[in-house]
Amino acid sequence: MTTTTTTTTTTTTTTTIITNVRLLADEGLTGPVSVRIDDDTITSITPELPDGGNARIVDGAGATLLPGLIDAHVHISSRRDLDALAHNGVTTGMDMASWPAATTAALRGQTGTASLISAGVPFIGPTGPHSRFGMPSYAIATDPADVAEGVARRIADGSDFIKIVTDAPGRGGADPKIVRAVVAEAHATGVIVVAHASHIDAFTMSLNAGADIITHVPTEDPITAAIAVGMADQGRLAIPTLSVSKILAAAMPRPGANYDNARDSVIALRKADVTVLAGTDSVAGTDASFTIPLGVALHHELELLVDAGYTPVEALRAATTGPARAFGLTDRGAVTPGLRADLLLIDGDPTIYITATQKISGVWTAGTRIR
Ligand SMILES: [Zn+2]
Repeated sequence: MTTTTTTTTTTTTTTTIITNVRLLADEGLTGPVSVRIDDDTITSITPELPDGGNARIVDGAGATLLPGLIDAHVHISSRRDLDALAHNGVTTGMDMASWPAATTAALRGQTGTASLISAGVPFIGPTGPHSRFGMPSYAIATDPADVAEGVARRIADGSDFIKIVTDAPGRGGADPKIVRAVVAEAHATGVIVVAHASHIDAFTMSLNAGADIITHVPTEDPITAAIAVGMADQGRLAIPTLSVSKILAAAMPRPGANYDNARDSVIALRKADVTVLAGTDSVAGTDASFTIPLGVALHHELELLVDAGYTPVEALRAATTGPARAFGLTDRGAVTPGLRADLLLIDGDPTIYITATQKISGVWTAGTRIR
C-alpha cells in the first residue's frame, strides 16, 4: 500500500490600514494619512486610502499614531512585566539590570508583547545598596583584570549593552579603574556602556571614565552647566529617570536631597543640548512604600520632561527616535515604511497636551494588535 501525502503551504498576509490618522512631524502633526501594515511591518503611508483588499480598516479620525514608545530604563523579570509595558503603549523596554541570565534570555523575542533589550547582569561594586539586591556573585567587579571575562560572559548570555553601577565615593560602587576597564572592553566588543550614577561625584567619575550614557540625575548637587556642556561636546547621553527621583523624594526623603535638583539637572542638560532619553526605573513588586508602575510611568516621565521645559515633541522624541538611535535599534522608533509595526494610537494631539499619550485607543507590537 502506498500513501501519498500532499502538503500545501499557503502564506496569507495580514493587512491593517489605519485611515485618516495624523503622525508626528518635526513640529506638530502631519495632515491625515493612511498607514498600511502588512504582517509585522509598516509598508506605506499615503494621503489617500490604499487598495487594501481584505484589510482590516481602523478609523483614525481625530487620533494620532505614534511609534510604540521606548522606556529607556526599566527592570523586567517576567512576561507580565512586558505585557504591562505593551498595554500602555511602551513596545520596547530597555532593561537596565535583570537576572538570572536564563530568565532574561527567555524573555527576549517574545511575540504579542513588548520587546526586551537588556543589559542582563550589571557590573556593581563590592558593597553599597546594589550589592544587597541578590545578584549573582559575578556582578561584583573589584579587579580590572577580571573585566574582559566578565564582559565576554555577559555578551555570551545575550546582553545587548553593558550596565555598570557607580556610587558616591565611600558607598561601595564600582571604582574608576573598573569603569574604565568595562568601557574599554565593551567598546572593543562593539557595545555601549550605561552607567548608573545618582550622585554628582559618581556622575562626573562615570563621564571621565568614558561611559556612553549616564542614567539618573543627582538629587543633592545638580548637574552644572559646565558638566552638561562637556557631555554635549563629547556626545554623551543621559537617561535622567525623573519619575524615580520624584517618587523617592516623596516616599523616602533624605536631608539635602530633593526633586528640584533632579529637575534643575535636566534643565541644564536641555540647555546644553545633551540628548536625553525618557526612562523611568520602573520595576514590578518594589518596596510597598512606593511604586513606579511599568508602562504607566513612562507617560508620567513625559509629563515631567515637559514640566522641565521640553516641548511635547522633544519629550516624544526622547521616548521614540532618541532611544532607538542611542541603542542602535534601526528597525523602530518612527512611523516609517519598512520599520516594525510597533504603534500607539491615541485620541487627540500630544504635541499640544503631552497627557494625550494616556488616551490610548490602540497598541500594535510587530503588527499584532494587543489593545
Ligand atoms: Zn534601575
